[in-house]
Amino acid sequence: MLQFPDMKHAHALVMGNWKLNPGNTLEAKTLFAELKKKIPKTTTAKVVVAPPFLFIPELAKGAASVIKLGAQDVHYEERGAVTGEIGAGMLAFFGVEYVIVGHSERRALGETDTQVNKKVQALLKRKLTPVVCIGERLRDSQGQFFNHIAAQLKALTEGLTPLQLQKVVIAYEPIWAIGTGETATAENVKEMQLFIVSTLTKLYERKVAEKVRLIYGGSVKESNAKDIYEQGGMSGFLVGGASLEAAQFAAIIKAVE
Ligand code: PEP
Repeated sequence: MLQFPDMKHAHALVMGNWKLNPGNTLEAKTLFAELKKKIPKTTTAKVVVAPPFLFIPELAKGAASVIKLGAQDVHYEERGAVTGEIGAGMLAFFGVEYVIVGHSERRALGETDTQVNKKVQALLKRKLTPVVCIGERLRDSQGQFFNHIAAQLKALTEGLTPLQLQKVVIAYEPIWAIGTGETATAENVKEMQLFIVSTLTKLYERKVAEKVRLIYGGSVKESNAKDIYEQGGMSGFLVGGASLEAAQFAAIIKAVE
């Protein structure tokens, strides 16, 4: 089974996805300040927080070098008649460095694989790091869900050069584990890490595939982070619910150091 050696990046990436939280700028500033207090400046992990768009300008003022700013989505157009959207240039202007695309909650609202690919390209043009979410809705005992993951990988990488691909972060987020309290086992995660690398190897070549950062998301918390990180083979986490509690988020970061 272990076709590939451990391809972990030297430093883990832990990204918090605040989703539609908290309720106002004051609360966002308070949570951000608590995180800054709890995360040691000496942490070896790359820590990113993705608040709702409206809080980004305010948090950018207090962004510390230890916490980078992220966003939860982007539109692939930079300007034009696309009501309600935010472009990559706007995010870059406020110091955003990482942007989630293809989150299952956005895909559920109609985001397509083609749009995900266009968003990845738009972000790379602006030198922002796309964090592209993939994942199966359910697992079947015949392993058909692997075909779904392969199709998502093919679609998101369409037209990307090897150099561009290496700048993309891929977040494996099984939908059944998001916000449910159910997590994939470390074994499930390891198996998926190997599958993703072997799929990318078929699309590019092994030395390119091995350089792509893979992270896991789905009910990660203090109690399971260490086990999944150490045995799952992924180079970090995308954290939803637990990123809204400073102590939990800090403990997850500690687990990957
Ligand atoms: C997410 O929304 O990306 C996520 C992983 O959420 P949670 O950690 O709450 O499952």
